[in-house]
Amino acid sequence: MSKSEQLLICGCCGQKLEVVKAIGHYLDYDFSVELMGCKHCNLVYIPEELANGRISQVESLLESK
Ligand SMILES: [Zn+2]
Repeated sequence: MSKSEQLLICGCCGQKLEVVKAIGHYLDYDFSVELMGCKHCNLVYIPEELANGRISQVESLLESK
């Protein structure tokens, strides 16, 4: 798995976003995800496409169990 080198800038303070761990909630399940976020503003950046992809991944994972 290769790391995405996409450079994202915080829209609030203009600093480079860092990888932060976040907890996602889907139905009754909690899952941990790594997202880009600004530690300065305490914001997590969740692209809509990524969020949708994560959710369908988690969904199929649960179905296969
Ligand atoms: Zn910021």
